[in-house]
Amino acid sequence: MTNVLFTASECTPFIKTGGLADVIGSLPQSINKTTNSHVKVMLPLYDEIPDHWQTRMELVATINVPVGWRNQEASIFTLEHNGVDYFFISNDYYFTRKGVYGYYDDGERFVFFSRAVIEALPYLNFTPDVIHAHDWQTGLVCAFAKILQPLENLKTVFTIHNIRYQGVMPHTMFGEMFNLSMDHFGGMEWNGMLNCMKSGIFHADKVTTVSPSYAEEIKDPYYGEGLHSLLQERSEDLTGIINGIDTNDYHPLKDPYIVSNYRHSRGKKKENKEYLQEVFGLPVDGEKPLYVIISRLVEQKGFHLVQHILDEFLQEDVQVAVLGTGEGEFEGFFYHAQERHPERLAVRLTFDEKLARQMYAAADFFIMPSQFEPCGLTQLIALQYKAVPIVRETGGLKDTVQSFNEITGEGNGFSFTNYNAHELLEALKYSLSVYHNPIQWIQLLKNVNKSQFSWKESATQYIHLYAEFETANIYSQGVI
Ligand code: ADP
Repeated sequence: MTNVLFTASECTPFIKTGGLADVIGSLPQSINKTTNSHVKVMLPLYDEIPDHWQTRMELVATINVPVGWRNQEASIFTLEHNGVDYFFISNDYYFTRKGVYGYYDDGERFVFFSRAVIEALPYLNFTPDVIHAHDWQTGLVCAFAKILQPLENLKTVFTIHNIRYQGVMPHTMFGEMFNLSMDHFGGMEWNGMLNCMKSGIFHADKVTTVSPSYAEEIKDPYYGEGLHSLLQERSEDLTGIINGIDTNDYHPLKDPYIVSNYRHSRGKKKENKEYLQEVFGLPVDGEKPLYVIISRLVEQKGFHLVQHILDEFLQEDVQVAVLGTGEGEFEGFFYHAQERHPERLAVRLTFDEKLARQMYAAADFFIMPSQFEPCGLTQLIALQYKAVPIVRETGGLKDTVQSFNEITGEGNGFSFTNYNAHELLEALKYSLSVYHNPIQWIQLLKNVNKSQFSWKESATQYIHLYAEFETANIYSQGVI
């Protein structure tokens, strides 16, 4: 059995800003249901984590973490939830702030956290064979593990959830924070800057990303955000494993947030739609096709395309509901578009888990025209709530949504190929024509009902990946 320590910057149900939290909050449970690997999880202890979790935590140890010329104190806390042990690293300076990210010293905060993960290892009563680090915030864990070798035969896996965010800092931070010889600078530097994402990719024994298509795409300059050549060099150790969702948690039959629970019933779904129309102040009509967007409002998610065609699409007899926060450009766009189309468009510029679930339950369609998408969870949640996704064929969207074909009757959504606003508009109009064609619509919904995105298969792929290390160790020890 392989002992694995996950480390990341967010995790449901404790703290969430996006899909990373969903993954870290559900994959370990799925792996722990098998007997092949056992996962524990290490996270920062943010003030933002609700009190009802913090009061359940027990102190494990208080340690010193070397940070340049000084030591920072860190306390390690633990709690168990749904069969997974979680460790939390607290520090009075770096994590006692509002929110999760967005501070001038975010880089320094996660250099500290990454080093603390390594320093905490002797105190856990758990000896990991593998540290599995996720995204730039923990990229340096892989570097420290390789350089400092805190445990014999310790291996690392680094998973890229989004290569756009790399954790880039001035190179002077290396001298100020790292307590390492300059010999190690090259593996962490990119274009003259310290780069945490690069450090993870460079130092990890295996690199994964969250869909097979994205694993291919990031080796190309268009998607690689400057790191494509390094990824090409590491391509033998790079694999794409598609994300799943916790189908027990995201389940329209059990979801406590939605007004009318259902499995497949369109009648019940209409009740959710009518409720949401009231909440959003849209005309209440269960027959009206409802399109929904739930997203960070950032360029990645394809909102430049939406900007070009939304007014034209809203000439149709449809409703669109939007939930999101993000860049001012897009918040402003939706805010003003809503004023132009009060009967057809309603927008909430906030982060609201309950409202999000009510929207998935109410929606007929889910719009997600991403410029790039490592995996995407929202289209999977939409399918789980029987809302039909409309996506661009990129990354995980390409791997999870097949465009409906009225001739063959195959497909669980709608998609378009090029990053082009009129292709999006065509896909939206086609979806509307299928909605109004009862035979095609029923066929499409049957296909949606069959779509399955639990963690089962992907968890097995991770277990196989960890097992490769064990096999390699046995060979290197000459046992076989
Ligand atoms: P990301 O690139 O943001 O990680 P994903 O599709 O992987 O995108 O996951 C986004 C997660 O965050 C989903 O669980 C989605 O429902 C949730 N989410 C996004 N925006 C909001 C919001 N404004 N309010 C509530 N939940 C949101």
